Amino acid sequence: MDGNIVELGDVNAGALGRNLGKPYTEIPDPFGCCDSYGEHFSNLIERSARLLGIPVEMVSNTELYESGEFEDATRYVLEHREKAREVLGHYQDKVDEEYVPFNPICDECGKITETVTAVNTDEGTVEYRCTDMEAGDQTIEGCGHEGTATFREGKLPWRFEWPAQWEVLGVDHEPFGKDHAEGSWPSGSDVARNVFEIEPPVPMAYEWFTLDGEAFSSSSGHVVMVQDVLEMIEPEVLRYFFTKDPSKARDFSVEHFDHLVDDFDAFERTYYGEDDRDDSDADEKAAEIASAAYPPTIRPTLAARFDADGAPILDPEDKSVPVTDDRRAQLDELADDEFSGRVRLPYTFAAVLGMTDDPDLRESIARREGHVPDDAPEWVTEFALSRVERAREWARRTGNEFDYELKRAEMPDVDVDADTEAALDELADFVADHDDPDEIQGEIYETAKRHDIDIGDFFSVGYRLFFDDEQGPKLGPFLAKLDREFVLTRLRREG
Ligand SMILES: [Zn+2]
Ligand SMILES: [Zn+2]
Repeated sequence: MDGNIVELGDVNAGALGRNLGKPYTEIPDPFGCCDSYGEHFSNLIERSARLLGIPVEMVSNTELYESGEFEDATRYVLEHREKAREVLGHYQDKVDEEYVPFNPICDECGKITETVTAVNTDEGTVEYRCTDMEAGDQTIEGCGHEGTATFREGKLPWRFEWPAQWEVLGVDHEPFGKDHAEGSWPSGSDVARNVFEIEPPVPMAYEWFTLDGEAFSSSSGHVVMVQDVLEMIEPEVLRYFFTKDPSKARDFSVEHFDHLVDDFDAFERTYYGEDDRDDSDADEKAAEIASAAYPPTIRPTLAARFDADGAPILDPEDKSVPVTDDRRAQLDELADDEFSGRVRLPYTFAAVLGMTDDPDLRESIARREGHVPDDAPEWVTEFALSRVERAREWARRTGNEFDYELKRAEMPDVDVDADTEAALDELADFVADHDDPDEIQGEIYETAKRHDIDIGDFFSVGYRLFFDDEQGPKLGPFLAKLDREFVLTRLRREG
């Protein structure tokens, strides 16, 4: 499985249509890599969780039915189908005397069927006829076959299956999207209490989150894969995103990953008490959240970066590994102790370093700018600089202002006349004691005007000096983000 769901246009969608009405685990994988359509997506979830260092145990509904784990719950619902109809009738219109809460799989065509003509709970079988079925605005044609199915050869309708899962799997906490909050949850908890006679799990309804301001959509390719995200931000930053209040809508903005990473860095500093906290309510709340949420957020990263003796592992292959119960306390102690010495380069500064290929140059700039202390242990330096490749990948994928190659090592050849030389020197003097992006941008215009230089030409000289190119990012804000000394040296054409 390559985990690619983005290029839906390439897949065999026709095969999907022909298989409408069959269980997902019986539909061939349209991507051609797994045993079934269902398995493709459960593999994807499992793999993403593993990348995030979240231990998951996958349970297959299909296997639960086939192995008989659902058999008792199915028999129970069918024995109490009178009550089941009554309860479901409060939520759905089409529940009549004929309604049977079990959908056998047709022995002939493999589709899920609705028309059960007889129930034999002692034998554990139903009789059925494979009839047409309405699914949304589509009609799935039945083949007309009449047959017998055991309780292992079919499934409970969703409204009963969900509560049955709670019972069979012993679910005590159930998070669900807000769509279920209005639909399946009220009926599910009612079915649990009044049909199964169990207490439903503790619910948590969560809001949707959007991707760069729009709803996620796999059919239009508006999705992002965990593996791709982790090429741009650290796993702990992605985990941090999920610690934000799930009852509020959140936007997962790839374009603004710099904001998310800055937020995470602040959250981390709050945990270590490195922020300028006062005793305002907001700061106290932030400290409370950080002390609860930071340890689980960072643990899988620590597990990947420190061995069992607490010694740092340089350049670990796994960026994030699941945490076993007995290592939890040990890793929390590590976080408070060893890891508190970590260094995080500000994300946009890392993006600036990413505009330079030379790793030694990256390191020396980071040191010169005071981000990496001289006495930093090797793992701290390596850890700090590991953000550079991620920020660079972010620049590449979003094509933002850092997606240019900065000519640091050598000054490009630029011919400038005396007026332009004077203007560049003046601009350098201005930048020497201003760091506001808009002020620098404004001053570029003013300087050009004072020296009667065409503004387009002046910007071209700027891009030539920094990128040896005709164009580049918006210059003022960009120069504000670069390390000052380099900007001054370059504007003064000293190297
Ligand atoms: Zn697959
Ligand atoms: Zn059939």
